[in-house]
Amino acid sequence: MSDPVYRLPDLPYDYAALEPHISAEILTLHHDKHHAAYVTGANTALEKLAAARDNKDFATITKLEKDFAFHLSGHVLHSLFWQNLSPDGGEPTGALLDQLEADFGGLDGFRAHMIEAANTVQGSGWAAASWEPLAKRVVISQVYDHQNNVGTGTLPILVIDAWEHAWYLQYKNVKADFFSAVWNVINWPDVAAKLELAKATTWTADTLTR
Ligand code: MN
Repeated sequence: MSDPVYRLPDLPYDYAALEPHISAEILTLHHDKHHAAYVTGANTALEKLAAARDNKDFATITKLEKDFAFHLSGHVLHSLFWQNLSPDGGEPTGALLDQLEADFGGLDGFRAHMIEAANTVQGSGWAAASWEPLAKRVVISQVYDHQNNVGTGTLPILVIDAWEHAWYLQYKNVKADFFSAVWNVINWPDVAAKLELAKATTWTADTLTR
C-alpha cells in the first residue's frame, strides 16, 4: 500500500491543557480515536476511488464520494478545531475584532450567534465561522455531520465541534454549558491569522466576481 495521503496531526498542547473546560479524557478520545478515524476513512475512500477507476467499475461511486466528503471534511474541521483552541484564552483584538464588529455588531453578537448555531444542531454537526469572499465578510454556518449545509467557497476560520463525542463524557445532557465554556480556551491569535490568510485568498473573488 502506498503512503497515506492524509495524516493525523499532533495536538499543539497536552491532553490536559484545556482543563477544566475540556477534560483530558475527552481530548484523548476525540483526537486519538475520532479524528484518527476520519483520517483513515479519507485515505480509504481515496484508495477505493482509485481502485474503481482502475477496474472501470463505478458501481459504488455514490457511496465512496459521500464517504470521502464526510471523512475529508471531518479531518479538516478537527485539524482546524485543535488550532482554534489554546490554554491561554483571551479576547479578539485588532483586525479580527474590527471584522466581528462590522459583521456581527461585536464579539457578544458573534458569540451568541455561534453558541446558538452549535446548540441547535439537530444530530451531529458544527458551528463554523467562515470568510465569505464574495461579500467579503465573516458568516456563520450550521454544519451537519462534517460536510453538509456549507456555503460553497467559504473558508472556515473558527469552528466549534457540536458532536456528542466533543462534550458528553463531561457535560452529559447539558451541552449548552460546553458551548459557553469553550470560549475560555479560544485561540484568538490563531483565528485572527486564519482570517488574514482567508482574506488574502484571491481564487473565489477573482474567479467569480469578474
Ligand atoms: Mn469531533
